[in-house]
Amino acid sequence: MMKKLYIELTSKCNLNCKTCFRNNWFDETEGVMNDPVLQKLYGYIDSADKLESVSLSGIGEPLLHRNITEIVRRISFAGKKTEIITNASLLDENTSAKLINAGLSMLWVSLDDAHTESADRFSEKVLNNIKYFNKIKGSSCKLGFAFVVENGRTDKIYEFAGKYDADEINISGAIPYRPLKKSCETKKLLGDNAGYCPFVSEGKCFIKWNGDVSPCIQLLHNTYTYLFEEKRKVFSYSFGNVSEKSLDEIWNSKEYKAFREKVIHFEFPDCTLCDGCDDRLENKKDCLFNDMPTCGACLWAQNAARCP
Ligand code: SF4
Ligand code: SF4
Ligand code: SF4
Repeated sequence: MMKKLYIELTSKCNLNCKTCFRNNWFDETEGVMNDPVLQKLYGYIDSADKLESVSLSGIGEPLLHRNITEIVRRISFAGKKTEIITNASLLDENTSAKLINAGLSMLWVSLDDAHTESADRFSEKVLNNIKYFNKIKGSSCKLGFAFVVENGRTDKIYEFAGKYDADEINISGAIPYRPLKKSCETKKLLGDNAGYCPFVSEGKCFIKWNGDVSPCIQLLHNTYTYLFEEKRKVFSYSFGNVSEKSLDEIWNSKEYKAFREKVIHFEFPDCTLCDGCDDRLENKKDCLFNDMPTCGACLWAQNAARCP
């Protein structure tokens, strides 16, 4: 059953980070979720008793959506925990107050660039926004930081999280959108929990800004990714669009159920440890005769990439 729904309100962003996933897209257009799609999702959320939380995130900056406060209010009113993942650059005092009053349960600040040279968005303004949010949020809302650490060093991260009083932190060991040198250190990223998809196995589902329903963030957009230093072409995959069918119908379709079963039992070869054929360079087929989407080279399924 579905437990967490991710809604990509927009794939646009006010920033242009060098390391952004969006720089690796192919055949994609940016867009903003429209009202009819949102209304369909509200209908599902209202009736989904087992759905615990809704995360307003995907790729893009959710605070750019003009109705962000109303959307948080509407989902919180339905009794679901409501989260946002943001770059915090637009989180001014007014926006912070409105989101908290609307019932926001969790604000994740994505700080992927904190330890890279492109740390331009990790500015004084962002830090002040975080401090103010934390000051007024009260106990009903939590603050979390999502970091990427590719050099294995976490000391500064814990220090930062302590200084800004985070309730939770999410540390990802790799970001599949840029090359990562294959070394003993980085190979250690693989192996723990290998063959476990944190999205499918935990009842999560993603809605792209245009209403497409995907099982995970990896399959939300056509994206070039990396398996260490090798470039891979990952085609997006959707089991339907909520403008054409209800989310309930799509979630319970034969195809989507069969895919979830296959992922939960992880019936895919481990392409992260094998370079036996070129199938690993796309997600269209593999040596176990699986069709698209194949998951054997997915770094999320190897616990190397993590999302809140
Ligand atoms: S803030 Fe996030 S979505 Fe926006 S440009 Fe930077 S990495 Fe991309
Ligand atoms: S699909 Fe190719 S790379 Fe992946 S495990 Fe099979 S032989 Fe190896
Ligand atoms: S294993 Fe990877 S590609 Fe497959 S559903 Fe999970 S996150 Fe998506």
